[in-house]
Amino acid sequence: MGTEPSALLRRSGLRVTAQRLAVMRAVSEGSHVSADVVAERARDEIGAISTQAVYDALTSLTEHGLLRRIQPAGSPARYEDRVGDNHHHLICRTCDRMVDVDCAVGEAPCLTAVKDHGYVVDEAEVIYWGQCPDCLREKGTA
Ligand SMILES: [Zn+2]
Ligand SMILES: [Zn+2]
Ligand SMILES: [Zn+2]
Repeated sequence: MGTEPSALLRRSGLRVTAQRLAVMRAVSEGSHVSADVVAERARDEIGAISTQAVYDALTSLTEHGLLRRIQPAGSPARYEDRVGDNHHHLICRTCDRMVDVDCAVGEAPCLTAVKDHGYVVDEAEVIYWGQCPDCLREKGTA
């Protein structure tokens, strides 16, 4: 992520805690990890950390723009530290693997609603669903 996690926290006005640092590291080591995976990794690193503390840290880090939360329909939220661009995601319906795809437009919202009903739109969430190459191979369809 380039900048030290502790510096990022301070810049966002968040107190630097071992828990927040462990959560940030857990997210940046993986890509698109669920809260369960974050909790597991954070525990490996700093020992006891409650699931609630992990959720609290994920929520405040997301609210402060240090993490991005992706909420695919029908599966748990995932977190990543690639923030500040408007990239999208491809998700495999079989194995849940999620990868980044760049946005052709680059800025949010990259899709403009035909009718905005007077709302000021700041985001259009795009998720492409399909089958990843590994799963296609396994099924013998590729
Ligand atoms: Zn797959
Ligand atoms: Zn991503
Ligand atoms: Zn886009």
